[in-house]
Amino acid sequence: MRYWIETLGCPKNHVDSDKLAGLLETQGYDLALSADDADLVVANTCAFIEAAREESIETVLDLAERKQKGARLVVTGCMAERYGEELAAALPEVDLVAGFGESLTVPSTQVALRSKVRSSFDLLNLPRPKSSAPWAYVKIAEGCDRRCGFCAIPTFRGDQRSRSTEEIIAEARALVEGGVKELVLIAQDLASWGHDRRRAGRGEAVEVLDEGGTQPLIELTATLSAEVERVRLLYLYPSGLTTGLIDTILATGVPYFDLSLQHSSRSLLRRMRRWGNAERFLERIESIRRSEPDATFRSSFILGYPGETEDDQRDLLDFIHAAQLDWAGFFTFSSEDGTYAQGLSDQVPHDLALERLREVSELQDTITANKRDALVGTTQRLLIDRPGVGRSVRECPEIDGVVLVDPSLSVGSMVQCRIVASRGTDLEGVSV
Ligand code: SF4
Repeated sequence: MRYWIETLGCPKNHVDSDKLAGLLETQGYDLALSADDADLVVANTCAFIEAAREESIETVLDLAERKQKGARLVVTGCMAERYGEELAAALPEVDLVAGFGESLTVPSTQVALRSKVRSSFDLLNLPRPKSSAPWAYVKIAEGCDRRCGFCAIPTFRGDQRSRSTEEIIAEARALVEGGVKELVLIAQDLASWGHDRRRAGRGEAVEVLDEGGTQPLIELTATLSAEVERVRLLYLYPSGLTTGLIDTILATGVPYFDLSLQHSSRSLLRRMRRWGNAERFLERIESIRRSEPDATFRSSFILGYPGETEDDQRDLLDFIHAAQLDWAGFFTFSSEDGTYAQGLSDQVPHDLALERLREVSELQDTITANKRDALVGTTQRLLIDRPGVGRSVRECPEIDGVVLVDPSLSVGSMVQCRIVASRGTDLEGVSV
């Protein structure tokens, strides 16, 4: 029996797909060459915003057409979790709609359309197949204890559940033994990893994230860093970027800071029910740059959140100009069921949100291009991801640009390269 998994959405979903693949392989399935060739076709969907949901539905319909006669089509992931009943009713092409951790077994004698039931196992600690690339995501927690105004994730992923240090280290070691050189740690709110376990251990509520080295992620990052060439941390809520965590990240040799900022205007951030403002963010960024001038920064921002004004837009433009981030992603606000923002007045017209997005994107594109140009003539240590493509610590896999290199350089090797040209977000390097 052969399986095929089509994955949409964020890195966290890709890890879930890896775990599903691991589970199916323990059940005797082999990876098919394509969806057309599989007996079990799985669509791991994304429900983050409207555009992601549309793409997920289109993918499911496409897989339904492509799958061979008799093959079973299963829809899982965030859409299945969030809209299981509606999906099952609306997509007769689908044999099974299964939320997180539900069995993917489809009865062979009859088509089963199932509505949402509670997970019978947790994907987090399932084994996963050997990574085909020299890097891998490691999901260290599921769910989130925060309640940002625009975000529906806690409504269907639930509160934070952190994996134990032992489980994470065991997975990291297996990946490293399989040739992985870079671990990319992910979670919905990475900086809060471990707080739920600590709370449970003490049987009391714990105030999160104080300064002074008590943050569980600090120790985990340091421990993993001793096991592997590179450890990269994604999705850091800005108040979680404590002095102790900054020092630890710098000590790993991967001075890459993926800050989940979302905006810079204090009043708008409060409407988003989030921490921070431009001044605090800049102070943190500048202090990191004082310790490590080569530190790389990425963030993402939402345009058109309800109540956003021209002053907020000016605040963001000034912040983007001052922060000189290496990388940034911009998204327009999407009103999601069950979120605080859905009930807010002063919704911003979509055209205006798009106009604001274009304005900040143009500014950031220039900053990113200048940053990339400034690297020409420098020497960087690259991890060769695939033939002809490498990354220094400045580039996160699948999100940032890459360094184009001689295709004969061996995949998985670490190579010193001189950067000889800049091509938009990508660079060209020659080994030295
Ligand atoms: S921290 Fe992230 S996952 Fe958690 S509620 Fe906020 S945006 Fe959503």
